[in-house]
This record gives sequence, C-alpha cells and structure tokens, in this order.
Amino acid sequence: MTVRVRFAPSPTGYLHIGGARTALYNYLYAKAVGGTFVLRIEDTDLERSNAEYEKLQIDDLKWMGIVHDEGPDKPNPKYAPYRQSERTEIYQKYALQLVDKGLAYYDFCTEEELEAMKAKTEAEGGDPHYTGKWREAAHWEEAKARVAKGEKTAIRFKAPKKSYTLKDKVKGSVTYPDNMVGDFVIVRSNGQPVYNFCCVVDDHLMDITHVIRGEDHLNNTVRQLMIYEALGAKLPEFAHVSLLIGHDRQKLSKRHGATSVNLYRNEHYLPEAMCNYLCLLGWSHPAERDIFDKSDLYEVFTLDRFSASSAMYDLEKLKWVNSEHVKKMSNADLISLVEKEPETEFFNKQTPEWKNACVELLKKYAQFIPDFPKLVNEMILNEHPHMTDALKEILSWETTPKILSFLAAEIDKVQTTFVTEAELNAWTEFVKKDLAVKGKPLFQGVRGCLTGHDHGPDLKFLIPLTPVSVLKNRMLDLSK
Ligand code: GLU
Repeated sequence: MTVRVRFAPSPTGYLHIGGARTALYNYLYAKAVGGTFVLRIEDTDLERSNAEYEKLQIDDLKWMGIVHDEGPDKPNPKYAPYRQSERTEIYQKYALQLVDKGLAYYDFCTEEELEAMKAKTEAEGGDPHYTGKWREAAHWEEAKARVAKGEKTAIRFKAPKKSYTLKDKVKGSVTYPDNMVGDFVIVRSNGQPVYNFCCVVDDHLMDITHVIRGEDHLNNTVRQLMIYEALGAKLPEFAHVSLLIGHDRQKLSKRHGATSVNLYRNEHYLPEAMCNYLCLLGWSHPAERDIFDKSDLYEVFTLDRFSASSAMYDLEKLKWVNSEHVKKMSNADLISLVEKEPETEFFNKQTPEWKNACVELLKKYAQFIPDFPKLVNEMILNEHPHMTDALKEILSWETTPKILSFLAAEIDKVQTTFVTEAELNAWTEFVKKDLAVKGKPLFQGVRGCLTGHDHGPDLKFLIPLTPVSVLKNRMLDLSK
C-alpha cells in the first residue's frame, strides 16, 4: 500500500502553529514511509477564505521546509483539482448519489421550522436532532419533484441510529454513542457542500490512507465515519494528535501570545528550531532526543510515539531549542546568516578567520541570529564601559591602576589591527611577574582593564577579536 497523507488547511488566516505541527507530522510520516504528502486547500467557506491567506500559508510551510508532493501548484492529474472550491460539482454528484440510494434526502424545512423543532425536542428533554417529515421516505418523491421543478434546497444526510467506534492511532478506541448526532446537512440550499462531506469525498477520491490531524476534529470524525460507510469507501487510518494548551491549560489561542508561524518567522526563529519544537509537542523521539533536524527523523518517525495527553506550549522552551540550533549550526552557515543582518558593517569587513573565531565564540551567548551583531557591539566594539558596581570595585583595587597604565602603554606600541593571543599572554605574564599581581586582582584586573567587564568570555578568544583602536579608547575611558 502506498501511503498518502494530506494537510488540509482552510485559508482563513495565517498558518497557526497547531496547523504547522499537523503539517509537519504528515510530512514526516510521508518521508518516513516513502509516501506522498498532499496539500489540499479547504476553502468551502467562501466568505472567510481568501487566496492571499492560501499563498501566505504555503509560504510559511515552505519556510519551515514542509514541502508537499502534490497540491494546487503541483497537481497530479489523477487527483486534481486540490482546492475544494474547484470541486463543487464532484461533491454535488456524490451527494445526489446518496439521495438516490436513500441515504440522504432533500430537506424543505424553513429556518423557523428548524428552530421550532429544536426548541420542542429540547423542551421534551430529547436530543436536539432533526425530526422533520422530509427524513421519511414517504415524502421523497414529492421532494424530488420540487427539486426537478427548480426549487433550491439543502441535502441532509440520514444519520444511522447506531454507535460508531473509531480505532485511533493516538486516542485508542473511541466510541460515539448512537444518539450523538442527528441528520446533518451535507449540501446547503445554495449548492455549497459542507466540510464534513467534502473532506470525506476528497480523502476517498485522493486515496488518502492516513488522516493525521488535531484532536479538535474528533467530533467531526463520527459524521465522517458515517459518510465513509454511506459511500462504501475504505476507511483511512486516523491519528488525532493532542491539543496544544497554554500555561493555564486552556486551548492555545491568541491570548497566550503569538500563535501564527509568521510571527515567529518575523521574530527570527530558525525554521529548523520551529520544526524541532513543534514536533516535540505531542511526539517523542525514540532515543528521547530533544534537539534534532527534520531530516534526522526521516528514519525514525512513526505514528506510535504520539502522546494522548495535551501538550503545553512553552515559549521559553522554544527559545532554548532555538539557541541549541544556533549552537549546532556550522560556522559557515552562521556567518552567512549574520552577514545578512542589519548593522553588520564591521563584521562583514573582517577576514574569514576573524568571522569564524567570532561566531565560534559568540554562539554560546546567542539565542537568535540578530543577537550576533548585538553581541559584537556589546562585547567587542564597545569603547565606553558601563560603570557597574563590579567594575568600580575592580578599579578601586590598588593594583588595577598599575595594570591599566602598563596595558595602555603596551597597546600604544601595537602596530597591527588586532593583538595576538601570544601578546596577551606576555602582558599577563608581565603583570604577574614584574608587577607582582596574582590571583583575583590579576585576572579580574586584566579583564576589567581590557574589556570593561567583570566577567565574560575567555580573554584569549575575545581580545584577539577586539580591534586595538577599541582597546585603546576603552582604556582611555577607564583611566578618566
Ligand atoms: N480544514 C480543516 C482545518 O483547517 C482540516 C480538516 C482535516 O484535516 O480533516 O481545520
């Protein structure tokens, strides 16, 4: 069996992180088993859908490296078109087949009648299900005759009065009791088919073998099981992945902060970090790894490692994952990303060796790519040390002015743009031996004079990256 999975977004807004996670799981599963990943656009809600959102969502997926094998822009003639708005006739044809078989019927009830029906059944303590006369076969000839004369009306599916059991890959066995849903509309009176119907017709016609989607669709699934049965279509495997929740354990929504992929993209998160973190929300690596690339999962992704309980969305963890991806990136890749950042004139002018040593040093401190130019400014180019209490204390030691005037004199003699590690070692040795400073006053003193900080990266890496002109001005500032 060739596996075919799909991601079926509705283009009614930006790509949501929950949607991106669903897309990722489908993509990974297709990759893992050599299947096909289909992108289907569910734009049956014509008022809320728009082509711009479709474009933006596809663009965000592409940014994350979640690339589809088939979709509106990559049609397989056997299955096209891939936008539901272009498939209306297909759904109408299938709906009519169900009417012909007596599995669905034309419903001529007015809105008022439907309201009254609901109020009555509720008042009697029953289920608020459709009880109109049109569900009875006795009225079907009359209904068909009215439609033949050109009257427009909804088509309603006759929900079988029996329970359904779903064998879900994540949720296990889910039983829907026989009174859970009543007859439901599959095509509206304006000819517009509804989601639950389109989805099944499409999954069936597109030979979808596995439906991996959010748990919020579980309530739809019972209606969909009924439609599969009515169409005589083979059921796909279902995997309803757990909900994303915020710290308050409520379903993740805008009030928990950024929920669209686009915002994270603008905030400079790395696409691989987004994939890594979203993947971990409800799925675990067989070797319990926390940090990985998508491509590391092609060999190991399976549908049996989903967690059935809700996954807590934690921005701090996402930031941490991002910083781990910064650390594991090659220096060459880091350099090319940093070079594209604004305010990197100084960085961009340096030699490849300098750039390499710089990113190697700063990646320990950077969470995001734009942190690099900031760190260069703070740690390397800052000529005016910020007078912290810790720095004041260092400067107040009696040994520090001696170190400062020695280093300032040495720096004045330097003819090159940067000092070497050997020069730095020689200076430290001199301070130790000739000036007879040792321990904390030695190390903190040298650090304070050269960097204007009481702590920071190893001087043997930092100082050879700092221009001599900056060191001079810094020490001038400290001597004032
Ligand atoms: N269009 C649905 C949504 O955006 C997806 C439904 C499905 O995956 O079956 O939630």
